[in-house]
Amino acid sequence: MLTPKVSIGTATAAGKPHAVVIGSGFGGLAAAIRLGARGYRVTVFEKLDAPGGRAYVHRQDGFTFDAGPTVITAPFLLEELWTLCGRRMADDIDLRPVAPFYRIRFDSGECFDYSGDPQAMRAEVARFAPGDVAGYERFLAASEAIYKVGFEQLGHVAFDSWTDMLRVLPQLLKLEGYRTVYSLASKHVRDARLRVVLTFQSLLVGGNPFATTSVYCLIAFLERRWGVHFPMGGTGALVKGLVGLIEGQGGSVRCAQGVEQITVDRGAASGVRLESGEVVPADVVVSNADSAWTYRHLVAPEHRRRWTDRRIERARYSMSLFVWYFGTRRQYRDVAHHTILLGPRYRELLTDIFERKVLASDFSLYLHRPTATDPSLAPQGCDTFYALAPVPHLQSGTDWPAHAETFRRAVCERLQSTLLPDLESQVVTSRMLTPQDFQDRLSSFRGAAFSLEPVLSQSAWFRPHNRSEELERLYLVGAGTHPGAGLPGVLSSARVLDSVVPRADSIQSPVAASPRPGDAVPA
Ligand SMILES: Cc1cc2nc3c(=O)[nH]c(=O)nc-3n(C[C@H](O)[C@H](O)[C@H](O)COP(=O)(O)OP(=O)(O)OC[C@H]3O[C@@H](n4cnc5c(N)ncnc54)[C@H](O)[C@@H]3O)c2cc1C
Repeated sequence: MLTPKVSIGTATAAGKPHAVVIGSGFGGLAAAIRLGARGYRVTVFEKLDAPGGRAYVHRQDGFTFDAGPTVITAPFLLEELWTLCGRRMADDIDLRPVAPFYRIRFDSGECFDYSGDPQAMRAEVARFAPGDVAGYERFLAASEAIYKVGFEQLGHVAFDSWTDMLRVLPQLLKLEGYRTVYSLASKHVRDARLRVVLTFQSLLVGGNPFATTSVYCLIAFLERRWGVHFPMGGTGALVKGLVGLIEGQGGSVRCAQGVEQITVDRGAASGVRLESGEVVPADVVVSNADSAWTYRHLVAPEHRRRWTDRRIERARYSMSLFVWYFGTRRQYRDVAHHTILLGPRYRELLTDIFERKVLASDFSLYLHRPTATDPSLAPQGCDTFYALAPVPHLQSGTDWPAHAETFRRAVCERLQSTLLPDLESQVVTSRMLTPQDFQDRLSSFRGAAFSLEPVLSQSAWFRPHNRSEELERLYLVGAGTHPGAGLPGVLSSARVLDSVVPRADSIQSPVAASPRPGDAVPA
C-alpha cells in the first residue's frame, strides 16, 4: 500500500489559512475567488483535465464547443468577482448582448421571437393572442415582484436555520410561491403557446414547469432587467478569466486531481485525500462537486446524520440531457443564436421525462449556434452547433452507450427537416454527451444534469445547506445547494459563503503552520 503524502498545495502566500475547493465549476471558481478575497490561500482540485465542470470546452477539428452554459444572464454576479480582485471584467471579457434572447419554434412551424425589448414583446404576444397582452404585462409584474424577493433578498441568504425559512414564508405565500411556474403563467395568459413561451425557462435550471415553484418565474424579469449575453470566445472565455483571477490572487487550480474523501478531525473537515493518495490539510473545505455526490461518496457515512444514503436515494433529481455537438461545413445564417425547437407534446413529454422516467420517441430541442455571435468558434465558412434534448435521468434504465447513436440520428433528422436542410451531409465533426456521462464524467448523482430538482420541498432550507449540516468547516456551493442550478444560482451560492465562512484573519490556522509543498511526511 502507498504511504499517503501530506502536502499543502501550491499557493505562494505562505502563512495564510488554507482553503481547499473541490471542483472547478462556476460555483467552485467563484467560491475560490471569494475565499481569496477573504484572505485565504486557495487550492482548487478538479478531477477533469481542465476547469469549468459543465462549462468544459471541447476543441475538435477547428471547432470550439462550449459543453454547457450558453445563455449568460445576471452579468453583475460575474462583474462582482472581478471587482473583488480590483479588476474590471471588461478588461478580460468581451460580453455581447444576444437578440432575440430565444427564437421559439412550435411544431406547427410558427416562431415567437422572445426578446428584452418591451415593445417588440408586446407586439409578438399580440401577434399570437391579442387578448393576452394585458395578462402578459401582469405576468411580468408578478415576475418582477418575485425577483425582488426571491433573487435580491433571498438568493444569497444561507438558509441554515428553520427560522430563516419561517421568516420568508409570508412573502412566499403572498407571491403565490405555492403555485407552479405553469400555474402562475396560466393565471395570466390563456393562449396555450404563450403558456409555453413563458414557462420553458425553468427547464434551463432543471425544473419541470408543471412541478417547479413559481419562484422560478423570476427568470422572466431577470432576463428583461439584465439581458441575455454571450462572451466572445465562448463561455470558456469566462472560465479562463475566472481561473486567471484565482491565480492573480496567488491561488491555484490543480486539474486531473480528483478528491477521494473529505478528511475529518473531531467533527470538522480537516482537508481532503486525493485519488493519488496525497492528503491535503485545510482550514476550510468547500465542495463544488454535486451535493448528493459529495455526501454519498466524499463524506464517510459515520459523519452524516441528515444526508444519509437513504435520504440521498429518496430525493428527487432534475432531468438529464442528451447533447449532440456538431460542426457543419456550411453556415446556416438564418438560424438564431438560441432556438427552442418544440416537439408535438409539452406537458405529456415533461411527464414522461420527470415523472414516468421513460425515454419518449418525440423530443423538444434547444439549438445553440454560437457562431451567430462569434464566427471565430468555427473554421471560416462553417458553423458550430449543439442540440440539447431534456431526457430522464438514469432511473429510466436507458442503456445510453448502446442507444446514443440512434437518438443522435433522430435528432439529426428532426433538425434536417426543420431548420438545417441537408444537415446529414454537412456535418464534419461530432461528439455526444449522455446522462451516463453526467454520472461517470461529472460525478452527478443519477446522471442528473442540474442536481436536485428545484421543487419547493427541496428549496432553500430543504436543500443541502451552504454551511454543511454535517461537519464544521465544510461548505457547499453549486447547483445542488441553495439557491440552485444555472449560472446566477451557482454564483449566488458562492456569494452565500461571505456570510458563513469566517474571514481568514479571524481563525487560528493549524494548516498555515504546516510544511510547504515538497515537505512530504508520513500521515
Ligand atoms: C448542457 C447544459 C447547458 C446549460 N445551459 C445553461 C445556460 O445556458 N445558462 C445557465 O445559466 N445555466 C446553464 N446550465 C446550468 C449550469 O451550467 C450549471 O448549473 C452550472 O454550470 C453548474 O455549476 P456548478 O458550480 O454546480 O459546478 P459543475 O459545473 O457541476 O462542476 C462541478 C465540478 O466538480 C468536479 N468534481 C466532481 N467531483 C469531484 C471530485 N471528487 N474531485 C474533484 N473534482 C470533482 C467536476 O469534475 C466538475 O468540474 C446548463 C447546464 C448544462 C449541463
